[in-house]
Amino acid sequence: MWDTVVIGSGAGGLGCALHLAEGGAKVLLVEALTYPGGCAGTFSHKGISHDAGATLLSPMGPDNWLPRWLRAHGVELPLHRPDPAVAFRAPGVDVQVPGSRQAWVERLCGLPGAPVDAIRRFFAVQGKVADLLWPVLDDPDLLPPLSGRALGGNLPRVFAAPTLLPLLGRPLLSVMERTGVAGFPPLRMWLDAMCQISVQTSAAEAEAPFALASLDYYFRSPGHPVGGVGALPLAMVRAFEGAGGALRYASRVRGLTRQDDGTWAVDVRGRTEHARTVVANLLPNALADLLGRSTPRLEKLSGDVHTGWGAAMWYLQGRWEGPDVPHWQLIERADAPLHSGNHVFVSMGPPEANGLRTVTASSHVPMQTPPDGPSIEAIQGRMKALLRDRLPELALAGGYSASPRTFARFTRRPGGFVGGVPRWHGLHNYRGMWPRPIERGLYLTGDTMFPGQSVTAAALGGHRVAETILRTL
Ligand SMILES: Cc1cc2nc3c(=O)[nH]c(=O)nc-3n(C[C@H](O)[C@H](O)[C@H](O)COP(=O)(O)OP(=O)(O)OC[C@H]3O[C@@H](n4cnc5c(N)ncnc54)[C@H](O)[C@@H]3O)c2cc1C
Repeated sequence: MWDTVVIGSGAGGLGCALHLAEGGAKVLLVEALTYPGGCAGTFSHKGISHDAGATLLSPMGPDNWLPRWLRAHGVELPLHRPDPAVAFRAPGVDVQVPGSRQAWVERLCGLPGAPVDAIRRFFAVQGKVADLLWPVLDDPDLLPPLSGRALGGNLPRVFAAPTLLPLLGRPLLSVMERTGVAGFPPLRMWLDAMCQISVQTSAAEAEAPFALASLDYYFRSPGHPVGGVGALPLAMVRAFEGAGGALRYASRVRGLTRQDDGTWAVDVRGRTEHARTVVANLLPNALADLLGRSTPRLEKLSGDVHTGWGAAMWYLQGRWEGPDVPHWQLIERADAPLHSGNHVFVSMGPPEANGLRTVTASSHVPMQTPPDGPSIEAIQGRMKALLRDRLPELALAGGYSASPRTFARFTRRPGGFVGGVPRWHGLHNYRGMWPRPIERGLYLTGDTMFPGQSVTAAALGGHRVAETILRTL
Protein backbone atom coordinates (compact mmCIF):
# COMPACT_ATOMS: atom_id res chain seq x y z
CA MET A 1 0.00 0.00 0.00
CA TRP A 2 1.43 3.38 -1.07
CA ASP A 3 0.76 6.50 0.98
CA THR A 4 0.26 8.37 -2.31
CA VAL A 5 0.22 7.56 -6.01
CA VAL A 6 0.90 10.66 -8.14
CA ILE A 7 -0.37 10.35 -11.72
CA GLY A 8 1.76 12.33 -14.17
CA SER A 9 5.24 13.82 -13.96
CA GLY A 10 4.48 17.35 -15.19
CA ALA A 11 5.75 20.26 -13.10
CA GLY A 12 2.77 19.95 -10.73
CA GLY A 13 3.10 16.18 -10.24
CA LEU A 14 6.85 16.46 -9.65
CA GLY A 15 6.51 19.34 -7.16
CA CYS A 16 3.95 17.29 -5.27
CA ALA A 17 5.81 13.96 -5.41
CA LEU A 18 9.12 15.50 -4.31
CA HIS A 19 7.63 17.25 -1.26
CA LEU A 20 5.71 14.11 -0.26
CA ALA A 21 8.86 12.00 -0.52
CA GLU A 22 10.96 14.44 1.49
CA GLY A 23 8.15 14.49 4.07
CA GLY A 24 8.63 10.75 4.56
CA ALA A 25 5.60 9.49 2.59
CA LYS A 26 5.82 6.29 0.53
CA VAL A 27 5.19 7.67 -2.97
CA LEU A 28 4.78 6.12 -6.41
CA LEU A 29 4.92 8.52 -9.38
CA VAL A 30 3.60 7.07 -12.63
CA GLU A 31 4.14 8.69 -16.03
CA ALA A 32 2.57 7.64 -19.32
CA LEU A 33 5.56 8.72 -21.41
CA THR A 34 9.18 7.58 -21.28
CA TYR A 35 10.41 10.97 -20.02
CA PRO A 36 9.14 13.53 -17.49
CA GLY A 37 7.91 17.11 -17.80
CA GLY A 38 4.75 17.04 -19.97
CA CYS A 39 4.36 20.58 -21.39
CA ALA A 40 7.75 21.39 -19.82
CA GLY A 41 9.52 18.37 -21.28
CA THR A 42 12.17 18.11 -23.99
CA PHE A 43 11.59 15.41 -26.61
CA SER A 44 13.80 14.07 -29.34
CA HIS A 45 12.66 13.43 -32.92
CA LYS A 46 15.04 12.17 -35.63
CA GLY A 47 17.99 12.95 -33.37
CA ILE A 48 16.99 16.59 -32.76
CA SER A 49 15.76 17.76 -29.33
CA HIS A 50 13.01 20.33 -28.92
CA ASP A 51 11.27 21.82 -25.89
CA ALA A 52 7.66 20.64 -26.17
CA GLY A 53 6.03 23.83 -24.84
CA ALA A 54 7.65 25.91 -22.11
CA THR A 55 10.99 27.52 -22.98
CA LEU A 56 11.66 30.32 -20.48
CA LEU A 57 11.42 29.75 -16.70
CA SER A 58 11.12 32.39 -13.99
CA PRO A 59 12.07 33.06 -11.21
CA MET A 60 15.23 30.94 -11.53
CA GLY A 61 17.96 32.95 -9.78
CA PRO A 62 20.26 30.93 -7.48
CA ASP A 63 18.33 32.19 -4.43
CA ASN A 64 14.87 31.53 -5.84
CA TRP A 65 12.77 28.75 -4.42
CA LEU A 66 13.02 26.05 -7.11
CA PRO A 67 16.83 26.12 -7.68
CA ARG A 68 17.27 26.34 -3.87
CA TRP A 69 14.98 23.36 -3.32
CA LEU A 70 16.88 21.25 -5.85
CA ARG A 71 20.22 22.27 -4.34
CA ALA A 72 18.97 21.17 -0.91
CA HIS A 73 18.65 17.70 -2.50
CA GLY A 74 22.17 17.91 -3.94
CA VAL A 75 20.92 18.57 -7.48
CA GLU A 76 22.37 21.46 -9.52
CA LEU A 77 20.49 22.80 -12.54
CA PRO A 78 22.81 24.76 -14.86
CA LEU A 79 20.94 27.57 -16.62
CA HIS A 80 21.50 29.99 -19.46
CA ARG A 81 20.64 33.45 -18.10
CA PRO A 82 20.62 35.75 -21.09
CA ASP A 83 20.19 39.50 -20.62
CA PRO A 84 18.25 40.61 -22.50
CA ALA A 85 16.29 37.38 -22.61
CA VAL A 86 13.57 38.68 -24.92
CA ALA A 87 13.05 41.11 -27.77
CA PHE A 88 9.75 42.46 -29.02
CA ARG A 89 8.92 43.19 -32.66
CA ALA A 90 5.50 44.53 -33.59
CA PRO A 91 4.17 47.14 -36.05
CA GLY A 92 6.31 50.25 -35.49
CA VAL A 93 8.27 48.66 -32.58
CA ASP A 94 11.60 46.84 -32.50
CA VAL A 95 12.96 46.77 -28.96
CA GLN A 96 14.95 44.48 -26.69
CA VAL A 97 13.52 43.98 -23.20
CA PRO A 98 16.35 44.37 -20.66
CA GLY A 99 16.55 42.26 -17.52
CA SER A 100 15.50 44.99 -15.09
CA ARG A 101 12.21 46.82 -14.73
CA GLN A 102 13.95 50.18 -14.34
CA ALA A 103 15.96 49.72 -17.55
CA TRP A 104 12.77 48.69 -19.36
CA VAL A 105 10.95 51.82 -18.17
CA GLU A 106 13.84 53.98 -19.43
CA ARG A 107 13.83 52.21 -22.77
CA LEU A 108 10.07 52.68 -23.18
CA CYS A 109 10.41 56.35 -22.23
CA GLY A 110 12.98 56.74 -25.02
CA LEU A 111 10.62 55.47 -27.74
CA PRO A 112 9.26 58.11 -30.14
CA GLY A 113 6.09 59.82 -28.80
CA ALA A 114 6.36 58.11 -25.38
CA PRO A 115 4.12 59.64 -22.65
CA VAL A 116 7.01 59.66 -20.19
CA ASP A 117 5.12 60.69 -17.03
CA ALA A 118 2.31 58.23 -17.70
CA ILE A 119 4.78 55.36 -18.26
CA ARG A 120 6.49 56.15 -14.96
CA ARG A 121 3.09 56.32 -13.17
CA PHE A 122 2.03 52.97 -14.61
CA PHE A 123 5.25 51.20 -13.65
CA ALA A 124 5.18 52.75 -10.17
CA VAL A 125 1.89 50.88 -9.57
CA GLN A 126 3.11 47.78 -11.41
CA GLY A 127 6.34 47.65 -9.39
CA LYS A 128 4.50 47.96 -6.07
CA VAL A 129 2.14 45.10 -6.89
CA ALA A 130 4.88 42.87 -8.32
CA ASP A 131 7.12 43.46 -5.29
CA LEU A 132 4.23 42.40 -3.04
CA LEU A 133 3.12 39.33 -4.95
CA TRP A 134 6.33 37.74 -6.28
CA PRO A 135 7.59 36.72 -2.82
CA VAL A 136 4.39 34.68 -2.43
CA LEU A 137 5.17 32.84 -5.66
CA ASP A 138 8.69 32.16 -4.46
CA ASP A 139 7.97 30.56 -1.11
CA PRO A 140 5.37 27.79 -0.82
CA ASP A 141 5.10 28.39 2.93
CA LEU A 142 3.44 31.76 2.29
CA LEU A 143 0.51 30.08 0.51
CA PRO A 144 -2.35 28.03 1.98
CA PRO A 145 -2.37 25.80 3.95
CA LEU A 146 -0.75 28.47 6.11
CA SER A 147 1.70 27.85 8.93
CA GLY A 148 2.41 30.21 11.84
CA ARG A 149 5.49 31.39 9.97
CA ALA A 150 3.29 32.22 6.96
CA LEU A 151 1.13 34.56 9.00
CA GLY A 152 4.20 36.63 9.88
CA GLY A 153 5.58 36.32 6.34
CA ASN A 154 2.35 37.69 4.87
CA LEU A 155 2.29 40.82 7.06
CA PRO A 156 3.71 43.06 4.27
CA ARG A 157 0.70 42.13 2.11
CA VAL A 158 -1.70 42.86 4.96
CA PHE A 159 -0.16 46.34 5.35
CA ALA A 160 -0.32 46.79 1.56
CA ALA A 161 -4.11 46.45 1.55
CA PRO A 162 -4.60 50.10 0.43
CA THR A 163 -2.53 49.35 -2.70
CA LEU A 164 -4.02 45.95 -3.50
CA LEU A 165 -7.70 46.21 -2.50
CA PRO A 166 -8.76 48.82 -5.10
CA LEU A 167 -7.26 46.60 -7.82
CA LEU A 168 -9.07 43.38 -6.89
CA GLY A 169 -11.60 42.28 -9.47
CA ARG A 170 -10.59 45.09 -11.87
CA PRO A 171 -9.15 44.69 -15.38
CA LEU A 172 -5.58 45.76 -16.13
CA LEU A 173 -7.03 48.23 -18.65
CA SER A 174 -8.46 50.30 -15.79
CA VAL A 175 -4.91 50.82 -14.44
CA MET A 176 -3.64 51.64 -17.93
CA GLU A 177 -6.38 54.24 -18.39
CA ARG A 178 -5.94 55.74 -14.94
CA THR A 179 -2.18 56.16 -15.37
CA GLY A 180 -2.52 57.38 -18.99
CA VAL A 181 -0.63 54.66 -20.93
CA ALA A 182 -3.63 53.04 -22.68
CA GLY A 183 -3.19 55.19 -25.81
CA PHE A 184 0.53 54.51 -26.34
CA PRO A 185 0.58 51.67 -28.94
CA PRO A 186 4.03 50.13 -28.23
CA LEU A 187 3.28 49.67 -24.52
CA ARG A 188 -0.34 48.72 -25.18
CA MET A 189 0.80 45.93 -27.55
CA TRP A 190 3.47 44.72 -25.11
CA LEU A 191 0.97 44.60 -22.24
CA ASP A 192 -1.50 42.67 -24.37
CA ALA A 193 1.21 40.25 -25.46
CA MET A 194 2.45 39.71 -21.90
CA CYS A 195 -1.07 39.19 -20.57
CA GLN A 196 -1.80 36.67 -23.32
CA ILE A 197 1.20 34.46 -22.46
CA SER A 198 0.93 34.79 -18.67
CA VAL A 199 -2.68 35.27 -17.56
CA GLN A 200 -4.02 33.95 -20.87
CA THR A 201 -6.21 36.87 -21.83
CA SER A 202 -5.89 40.46 -23.10
CA ALA A 203 -5.03 43.48 -20.95
CA ALA A 204 -8.64 44.66 -21.31
CA GLU A 205 -9.91 41.51 -19.60
CA ALA A 206 -7.06 40.45 -17.29
CA GLU A 207 -7.38 40.53 -13.48
CA ALA A 208 -5.19 43.54 -12.57
CA PRO A 209 -3.11 42.21 -9.61
CA PHE A 210 -2.21 38.96 -11.43
CA ALA A 211 -1.44 40.81 -14.67
CA LEU A 212 0.64 43.52 -12.96
CA ALA A 213 2.68 40.94 -11.08
CA SER A 214 3.24 38.75 -14.14
CA LEU A 215 4.68 41.72 -16.07
CA ASP A 216 7.82 41.17 -13.95
CA TYR A 217 8.41 37.74 -15.55
CA TYR A 218 11.48 38.89 -17.51
CA PHE A 219 12.87 40.89 -14.57
CA ARG A 220 12.89 38.07 -11.96
CA SER A 221 15.93 36.04 -13.03
CA PRO A 222 14.49 34.16 -16.01
CA GLY A 223 16.50 31.24 -17.30
CA HIS A 224 16.58 28.31 -19.68
CA PRO A 225 18.11 25.03 -18.45
CA VAL A 226 21.25 23.97 -20.28
CA GLY A 227 20.30 21.07 -22.56
CA GLY A 228 16.65 22.09 -22.81
CA VAL A 229 13.75 22.84 -20.49
CA GLY A 230 13.40 19.08 -19.84
CA ALA A 231 16.57 19.26 -17.72
CA LEU A 232 14.36 20.75 -14.96
CA PRO A 233 11.92 17.82 -14.67
CA LEU A 234 14.89 15.44 -14.92
CA ALA A 235 16.56 17.30 -12.04
CA MET A 236 13.32 17.06 -10.02
CA VAL A 237 13.18 13.32 -10.75
CA ARG A 238 16.74 12.92 -9.42
CA ALA A 239 15.78 14.79 -6.24
CA PHE A 240 12.57 12.72 -5.90
CA GLU A 241 14.37 9.38 -6.32
CA GLY A 242 17.13 10.57 -3.99
CA ALA A 243 14.45 11.26 -1.37
CA GLY A 244 13.23 7.66 -1.67
CA GLY A 245 10.36 8.08 -4.17
CA ALA A 246 9.57 5.43 -6.81
CA LEU A 247 8.99 6.43 -10.45
CA ARG A 248 7.66 4.33 -13.32
CA TYR A 249 7.75 5.59 -16.90
CA ALA A 250 5.65 4.20 -19.75
CA SER A 251 2.96 3.62 -17.14
CA ARG A 252 -0.31 5.14 -18.19
CA VAL A 253 -3.07 5.04 -15.58
CA ARG A 254 -6.30 3.75 -17.13
CA GLY A 255 -8.67 3.69 -14.18
CA LEU A 256 -9.13 4.83 -10.62
CA THR A 257 -11.56 3.30 -8.14
CA ARG A 258 -12.37 4.18 -4.57
CA GLN A 259 -12.42 1.07 -2.37
CA ASP A 260 -14.92 0.37 0.42
CA ASP A 261 -12.24 1.12 3.04
CA GLY A 262 -11.65 4.58 1.55
CA THR A 263 -8.34 3.70 -0.14
CA TRP A 264 -7.79 3.88 -3.93
CA ALA A 265 -7.12 1.20 -6.54
CA VAL A 266 -5.06 2.57 -9.42
CA ASP A 267 -5.15 0.58 -12.66
CA VAL A 268 -1.75 1.05 -14.25
CA ARG A 269 -0.23 -1.09 -16.99
CA GLY A 270 -2.24 -4.18 -16.22
CA ARG A 271 -1.50 -4.00 -12.48
CA THR A 272 -3.44 -2.58 -9.58
CA GLU A 273 -1.61 -0.31 -7.17
CA HIS A 274 -3.24 0.56 -3.87
CA ALA A 275 -2.88 3.96 -2.20
CA ARG A 276 -4.30 5.95 0.69
CA THR A 277 -4.30 9.12 -1.41
CA VAL A 278 -4.06 9.86 -5.13
CA VAL A 279 -2.87 13.06 -6.77
CA ALA A 280 -3.80 13.54 -10.42
CA ASN A 281 -1.53 15.88 -12.40
CA LEU A 282 -4.23 15.97 -15.06
CA LEU A 283 -6.91 18.18 -16.55
CA PRO A 284 -10.11 17.88 -14.51
CA ASN A 285 -12.00 16.03 -17.26
CA ALA A 286 -9.11 13.56 -17.65
CA LEU A 287 -9.54 12.74 -13.96
CA ALA A 288 -13.30 12.30 -14.49
CA ASP A 289 -12.48 9.88 -17.34
CA LEU A 290 -10.22 7.80 -15.04
CA LEU A 291 -12.96 7.72 -12.39
CA GLY A 292 -15.59 6.80 -14.96
CA ARG A 293 -17.80 9.50 -13.42
CA SER A 294 -17.73 13.23 -12.78
CA THR A 295 -18.49 15.42 -9.76
CA PRO A 296 -19.96 18.93 -9.63
CA ARG A 297 -16.53 20.36 -8.78
CA LEU A 298 -14.81 18.51 -11.64
CA GLU A 299 -17.56 19.77 -13.99
CA LYS A 300 -16.99 23.35 -12.82
CA LEU A 301 -13.19 23.09 -13.14
CA SER A 302 -13.50 21.52 -16.60
CA GLY A 303 -15.84 24.31 -17.67
CA ASP A 304 -13.18 26.87 -16.63
CA VAL A 305 -10.46 25.05 -18.56
CA HIS A 306 -12.70 24.90 -21.65
CA THR A 307 -12.78 28.71 -21.83
CA GLY A 308 -9.02 28.53 -22.51
CA TRP A 309 -6.60 27.78 -25.27
CA GLY A 310 -4.74 25.29 -27.34
CA ALA A 311 -1.35 25.86 -28.98
CA ALA A 312 -0.15 25.85 -32.57
CA MET A 313 3.57 25.05 -32.83
CA TRP A 314 6.53 24.93 -35.16
CA TYR A 315 9.54 22.85 -34.13
CA LEU A 316 12.25 24.12 -36.49
CA GLN A 317 15.96 24.41 -37.12
CA GLY A 318 17.63 27.49 -38.49
CA ARG A 319 20.69 29.65 -38.84
CA TRP A 320 20.55 32.92 -36.86
CA GLU A 321 22.46 36.03 -37.79
CA GLY A 322 20.73 38.56 -35.56
CA PRO A 323 21.31 40.05 -32.09
CA ASP A 324 22.28 37.74 -29.25
CA VAL A 325 18.74 37.42 -27.84
CA PRO A 326 17.25 33.90 -27.58
CA HIS A 327 13.51 34.69 -27.19
CA TRP A 328 11.37 36.83 -29.47
CA GLN A 329 7.79 38.05 -29.16
CA LEU A 330 6.40 38.89 -32.57
CA ILE A 331 3.12 40.60 -33.46
CA GLU A 332 1.82 40.89 -37.00
CA ARG A 333 -1.10 43.32 -36.63
CA ALA A 334 -1.88 45.75 -33.82
CA ASP A 335 -5.61 45.85 -34.59
CA ALA A 336 -6.30 42.10 -34.24
CA PRO A 337 -6.45 39.77 -31.20
CA LEU A 338 -3.11 38.30 -30.15
CA HIS A 339 -3.74 34.68 -31.04
CA SER A 340 -4.14 32.43 -34.09
CA GLY A 341 -0.71 33.32 -35.48
CA ASN A 342 -1.00 37.10 -34.93
CA HIS A 343 1.29 36.77 -31.88
CA VAL A 344 4.13 34.23 -31.87
CA PHE A 345 6.64 33.44 -29.12
CA VAL A 346 9.91 32.21 -30.62
CA SER A 347 12.75 30.56 -28.68
CA MET A 348 16.15 29.63 -30.06
CA GLY A 349 18.70 27.23 -28.63
CA PRO A 350 22.47 27.78 -28.78
CA PRO A 351 24.19 26.98 -32.12
CA GLU A 352 25.03 23.30 -32.69
CA ALA A 353 28.30 22.10 -34.24
CA ASN A 354 26.78 22.52 -37.73
CA GLY A 355 25.86 26.15 -36.93
CA LEU A 356 22.11 25.41 -36.80
CA ARG A 357 19.92 26.20 -33.79
CA THR A 358 16.70 24.60 -32.70
CA VAL A 359 13.79 27.03 -32.95
CA THR A 360 10.43 26.61 -31.19
CA ALA A 361 7.55 28.89 -32.15
CA SER A 362 4.12 28.89 -30.46
CA SER A 363 0.84 30.76 -30.79
CA HIS A 364 -2.44 30.54 -28.88
CA VAL A 365 -5.34 28.83 -30.64
CA PRO A 366 -8.95 29.41 -29.53
CA MET A 367 -10.63 26.07 -28.97
CA GLN A 368 -14.16 27.20 -29.73
CA THR A 369 -13.18 28.27 -33.24
CA PRO A 370 -16.21 29.47 -35.18
CA PRO A 371 -16.92 27.40 -38.30
CA ASP A 372 -15.61 30.25 -40.46
CA GLY A 373 -12.45 30.67 -38.29
CA PRO A 374 -9.02 29.83 -39.67
CA SER A 375 -7.96 26.19 -39.84
CA ILE A 376 -4.95 25.06 -37.81
CA GLU A 377 -2.97 24.82 -41.06
CA ALA A 378 -3.86 28.45 -41.88
CA ILE A 379 -2.71 29.51 -38.37
CA GLN A 380 0.56 27.63 -38.81
CA GLY A 381 1.00 29.25 -42.23
CA ARG A 382 0.46 32.70 -40.70
CA MET A 383 3.05 31.91 -38.00
CA LYS A 384 5.63 30.92 -40.63
CA ALA A 385 4.95 34.11 -42.60
CA LEU A 386 5.36 36.20 -39.41
CA LEU A 387 8.70 34.49 -38.69
CA ARG A 388 9.85 35.26 -42.24
CA ASP A 389 8.71 38.90 -42.16
CA ARG A 390 9.67 39.95 -38.62
CA LEU A 391 12.78 37.77 -38.18
CA PRO A 392 14.60 38.09 -41.51
CA GLU A 393 17.87 37.23 -39.68
CA LEU A 394 16.59 33.65 -39.28
CA ALA A 395 17.23 31.29 -42.22
CA LEU A 396 15.07 28.22 -41.64
CA ALA A 397 16.38 24.77 -42.51
CA GLY A 398 13.42 22.49 -41.94
CA GLY A 399 11.16 21.31 -39.16
CA TYR A 400 7.59 20.29 -38.51
CA SER A 401 4.40 21.63 -36.98
CA ALA A 402 2.15 20.60 -34.08
CA SER A 403 -1.41 21.37 -33.07
CA PRO A 404 -3.78 20.93 -30.11
CA ARG A 405 -4.27 17.38 -31.39
CA THR A 406 -0.52 16.76 -30.95
CA PHE A 407 -0.64 18.08 -27.37
CA ALA A 408 -3.64 15.85 -26.68
CA ARG A 409 -1.65 12.83 -27.88
CA PHE A 410 1.71 13.60 -26.26
CA THR A 411 0.70 15.23 -22.98
CA ARG A 412 -2.61 13.35 -22.72
CA ARG A 413 -4.47 16.61 -22.18
CA PRO A 414 -7.97 15.91 -23.55
CA GLY A 415 -8.66 18.22 -26.50
CA GLY A 416 -5.14 19.66 -26.24
CA PHE A 417 -6.12 22.42 -23.79
CA VAL A 418 -2.95 24.07 -22.47
CA GLY A 419 -2.20 27.17 -20.44
CA GLY A 420 -4.47 26.61 -17.46
CA VAL A 421 -7.46 28.84 -16.77
CA PRO A 422 -7.65 32.38 -18.22
CA ARG A 423 -7.54 34.97 -15.42
CA TRP A 424 -10.44 37.17 -16.47
CA HIS A 425 -11.01 40.00 -14.04
CA GLY A 426 -13.34 39.30 -11.14
CA LEU A 427 -13.28 38.31 -7.50
CA HIS A 428 -13.83 34.64 -8.44
CA ASN A 429 -10.04 34.48 -8.99
CA TYR A 430 -9.46 34.47 -5.24
CA ARG A 431 -11.53 31.38 -4.56
CA GLY A 432 -9.83 28.01 -4.66
CA MET A 433 -6.50 29.15 -3.18
CA TRP A 434 -6.73 26.52 -0.45
CA PRO A 435 -5.76 23.05 -1.71
CA ARG A 436 -8.71 20.79 -0.97
CA PRO A 437 -9.54 17.31 -2.16
CA ILE A 438 -11.88 16.60 -5.07
CA GLU A 439 -13.19 13.91 -2.77
CA ARG A 440 -11.67 12.19 0.22
CA GLY A 441 -8.08 11.22 -0.54
CA LEU A 442 -8.16 12.46 -4.14
CA TYR A 443 -6.45 15.69 -5.27
CA LEU A 444 -5.80 17.55 -8.52
CA THR A 445 -2.58 19.40 -9.22
CA GLY A 446 -1.09 21.18 -12.24
CA ASP A 447 -1.59 24.44 -14.07
CA THR A 448 -5.39 24.44 -13.85
CA MET A 449 -5.18 24.66 -10.06
CA PHE A 450 -3.96 27.59 -7.92
CA PRO A 451 -1.52 29.34 -8.39
CA GLY A 452 -1.87 28.25 -11.99
CA GLN A 453 -0.07 28.53 -15.28
CA SER A 454 3.75 28.45 -15.66
CA VAL A 455 6.23 25.74 -14.78
CA THR A 456 7.34 27.23 -11.47
CA ALA A 457 3.76 28.07 -10.43
CA ALA A 458 2.59 24.51 -11.21
CA ALA A 459 5.52 23.07 -9.20
CA LEU A 460 4.67 25.39 -6.30
CA GLY A 461 1.00 24.33 -6.47
CA GLY A 462 2.09 20.68 -6.33
CA HIS A 463 4.18 21.43 -3.25
CA ARG A 464 1.11 22.98 -1.54
CA VAL A 465 -1.03 19.93 -2.34
CA ALA A 466 1.69 17.70 -0.85
CA GLU A 467 1.85 19.86 2.27
CA THR A 468 -1.92 19.45 2.69
CA ILE A 469 -1.64 15.67 2.29
CA LEU A 470 1.31 15.39 4.70
CA ARG A 471 -0.86 16.96 7.38
CA THR A 472 -3.36 14.11 6.99
CA LEU A 473 -0.97 11.13 6.85
C1 LIG B 1 3.32 26.11 -26.04
C2 LIG B 1 3.50 26.36 -24.59
C3 LIG B 1 4.46 27.28 -24.17
C4 LIG B 1 4.65 27.51 -22.80
N1 LIG B 1 5.64 28.36 -22.41
C5 LIG B 1 5.93 28.48 -21.08
C6 LIG B 1 7.10 29.17 -20.67
O1 LIG B 1 7.90 29.66 -21.49
N2 LIG B 1 7.34 29.26 -19.32
C7 LIG B 1 6.52 28.67 -18.40
O2 LIG B 1 6.80 28.75 -17.19
N3 LIG B 1 5.42 27.99 -18.78
C8 LIG B 1 5.12 27.87 -20.09
N4 LIG B 1 4.06 27.11 -20.49
C9 LIG B 1 3.17 26.54 -19.47
C10 LIG B 1 3.79 25.34 -18.76
O3 LIG B 1 4.47 24.52 -19.67
C11 LIG B 1 2.67 24.55 -18.08
O4 LIG B 1 1.86 25.42 -17.32
C12 LIG B 1 3.21 23.46 -17.14
O5 LIG B 1 4.33 22.80 -17.70
C13 LIG B 1 2.07 22.48 -16.89
O6 LIG B 1 2.45 21.52 -15.96
P1 LIG B 1 1.38 20.52 -15.32
O7 LIG B 1 1.90 20.10 -14.01
O8 LIG B 1 0.02 21.11 -15.36
O9 LIG B 1 1.43 19.18 -16.18
P2 LIG B 1 1.53 18.68 -17.68
O10 LIG B 1 2.65 19.37 -18.35
O11 LIG B 1 0.22 18.63 -18.33
O12 LIG B 1 2.00 17.19 -17.39
C14 LIG B 1 1.10 16.15 -17.09
C15 LIG B 1 1.87 14.83 -17.19
O13 LIG B 1 0.98 13.77 -16.88
C16 LIG B 1 1.19 12.69 -17.78
N5 LIG B 1 -0.07 11.93 -17.87
C17 LIG B 1 -1.25 12.38 -18.38
N6 LIG B 1 -2.20 11.41 -18.27
C18 LIG B 1 -1.59 10.35 -17.65
C19 LIG B 1 -2.06 9.06 -17.25
N7 LIG B 1 -3.33 8.67 -17.46
N8 LIG B 1 -1.17 8.22 -16.64
C20 LIG B 1 0.12 8.63 -16.41
N9 LIG B 1 0.60 9.82 -16.79
C21 LIG B 1 -0.25 10.69 -17.40
C22 LIG B 1 1.57 13.39 -19.08
O14 LIG B 1 2.26 12.52 -19.95
C23 LIG B 1 2.43 14.55 -18.58
O15 LIG B 1 3.78 14.17 -18.47
C24 LIG B 1 3.85 26.85 -21.85
C25 LIG B 1 2.89 25.92 -22.26
C26 LIG B 1 2.74 25.66 -23.62
C27 LIG B 1 1.74 24.63 -24.04
